[in-house]
Amino acid sequence: MDQAPKKPKPSGRELQRHLNTPLECKVCHVMLNRRRDGYYQCPSCNGLYKDNLMIAKEYLMNNPDASIEEIVEGTNIPEETLIFFIDNDMITIPDTNKNFSVCKNCGRIIIAGRYCNNCAIYTFNRLQKIINGEHDFD
Ligand SMILES: [Zn+2]
Ligand SMILES: [Zn+2]
Repeated sequence: MDQAPKKPKPSGRELQRHLNTPLECKVCHVMLNRRRDGYYQCPSCNGLYKDNLMIAKEYLMNNPDASIEEIVEGTNIPEETLIFFIDNDMITIPDTNKNFSVCKNCGRIIIAGRYCNNCAIYTFNRLQKIINGEHDFD
């Protein structure tokens, strides 16, 4: 099998939904500032807040062998959001984590099965073209 084309970048709105960005300090009710390291800080009390990406990254740092179910349970982040982060290379699952699979085509980390969504769709489209007689063996 050959390389499937790169997935298009997610829309800003989709990204925002998954990040669930904290907006204001729960104590002072003022707008938070986003720091370079990804934390959100209250300018008034210096309280620190995290978005879903940061929470997932921290959890994986402390639990590098966690399964997807364990991450969901430990972080309260929906599975759909975790898959979104993994699919878009926003979080890295360590190679040593045996709870995840690797796509047989591109080597990307996947939850289960043999191929990532991207490669599965690409392969399916190619097969359909071949079946329809539109050969594109390049
Ligand atoms: Zn505050
Ligand atoms: Zn793949």
